Amino acid sequence: MRLKDKVAIVTGAASGIGKEIALTYAREGARVAVADLDKGAADAAAGEIRAAGGQALGIAMDVTSEQAVNDGVAAVVAAFGGVDVLVSNAGIQIVHPLEEFSYAEWKKMLAIHLDGAFLTTRACLPRMYGSGRGGSIIYMGSVHSKEASVLKAPYVTAKHGLIGLAKGVAKEGAKHGVRANVICPGFVRTPLVEKQIPQQAKTLGISEQDVVKKVMLKDTVDGEFTTVADVAEVALLFASFPSNALTGQSLVVSHGWFMQ
Ligand code: NAD
Repeated sequence: MRLKDKVAIVTGAASGIGKEIALTYAREGARVAVADLDKGAADAAAGEIRAAGGQALGIAMDVTSEQAVNDGVAAVVAAFGGVDVLVSNAGIQIVHPLEEFSYAEWKKMLAIHLDGAFLTTRACLPRMYGSGRGGSIIYMGSVHSKEASVLKAPYVTAKHGLIGLAKGVAKEGAKHGVRANVICPGFVRTPLVEKQIPQQAKTLGISEQDVVKKVMLKDTVDGEFTTVADVAEVALLFASFPSNALTGQSLVVSHGWFMQ
């Protein structure tokens, strides 16, 4: 039980990576807020956790809405008494060549990934500072926090930006025992990626099989997808690490696609 008596908020936790992190944290003893734009799916994921013997609450939260974030975090504090871990994970993908991105799409990408990370961090920090217990803030970056790929300029921009935010939070949070780190997964077969396969096949004029083999997994050491469980394991490490020795870092989990 590495998170016994901790309270965790995971955004975008109704699906994919966030859902697996929520399930893992609950298994390790945390009370988990499953925060998502999709309230029905958030409630369903929270129900799954409770059915497995854990403690969880579904929270409706659009991470780009200042009001929704502040209200959602306040509701978690009212229900569970504080916040010890924030996983800022909600994200989407839009793929186009740069010159075909509308300004609205660019702003939407930056809003979900960067504004969402800022707003959730700002709402949680006073709770972590005030509790005397510190806390852990984890941003869901990507190999695209380190590398670029064609068709993904706003995503690459936002994911690089999260590393800057984590370093800033690490500096400011240290004296309160608040740590901030970034997880940088390679391709994980979630709905976010399933959607991209046919889109990239069309844009690049290749088969879906080739998108997987020759684009997504081309530079891995073994041609394997990273799994939600791999990412959740790293999220558990960052959440449970006991000191400021591990802060301001970004860890790549990608089957060697990117090596530092
Ligand atoms: P997913 O589509 O399975 O889940 C994303 C969740 O975020 C969904 O439940 C969705 O409802 C929610 N969401 C979207 N917009 C939101 C908003 N404005 N407010 C609150 N919730 C919102 O995707 P995933 O693959 O699990 O991605 C999770 C995170 O991991 C994202 O930040 C993504 O960029 C990152 N990531 C994914 C991969 C991958 O290969 N799947 C790789 C690296 C990083």
